[in-house]
Amino acid sequence: DLEISIKVVIVGNGAVGKSSMIQRYCRGIFTQNYKKTIGVDFLEKHLRVSDEEVRLMLWDTAGQEEFDAITKAYYRGAQACVVAFSTVDRASFEAVRKWKKKVEDECGLVPMVLVQNKIDLLHESQVTAAEVEHLAKELQMRLYRTSVKEDLNVMNVFQHLAENYVSR
Ligand code: GDP
Ligand code: MG
Repeated sequence: DLEISIKVVIVGNGAVGKSSMIQRYCRGIFTQNYKKTIGVDFLEKHLRVSDEEVRLMLWDTAGQEEFDAITKAYYRGAQACVVAFSTVDRASFEAVRKWKKKVEDECGLVPMVLVQNKIDLLHESQVTAAEVEHLAKELQMRLYRTSVKEDLNVMNVFQHLAENYVSR
């Protein structure tokens, strides 16, 4: 039977861990300084969701996010989205609304989740649990707290998006 393909875009300020998350999920690796492989638009991961074969294509940016210069091609045809921020970067948390709106402008209403990454650094957190929960509720986004470094919760983010899509 036919495989379901889902294009997933991962947005958020620079250095919140987007590339690392893709590498972790698709390749099972973590490095301190990962750079997008030139010429590669996405990495893929195959999974099964209630008897369906699903192929997730996780699109990485080339690190141009600080310049608001992500190309239209990046967003084109996206069917799901992760908006990520970092526990230790207050500005990245404050940029979440902007990213959500950007995706909605480019892609319309696609399933989105909010990811608070780097929870291994909770002791130096620049956001409170209450304000993160408040924002997730206000934006009506499901919240995941992850550590790409320690491999906490990363699988659950993408499993959720895939399940959501299959049962849409
Ligand atoms: P991007 O710009 O959003 O793609 O961020 P990167 O994936 O390049 O990650 C930026 C830096 O944060 C790198 O040094 C990563 O190793 C580091 N990093 C990513 N995820 C985590 C995490 O969960 N915990 C910690 N401590 N560092 C992380
Ligand atoms: Mg990156």
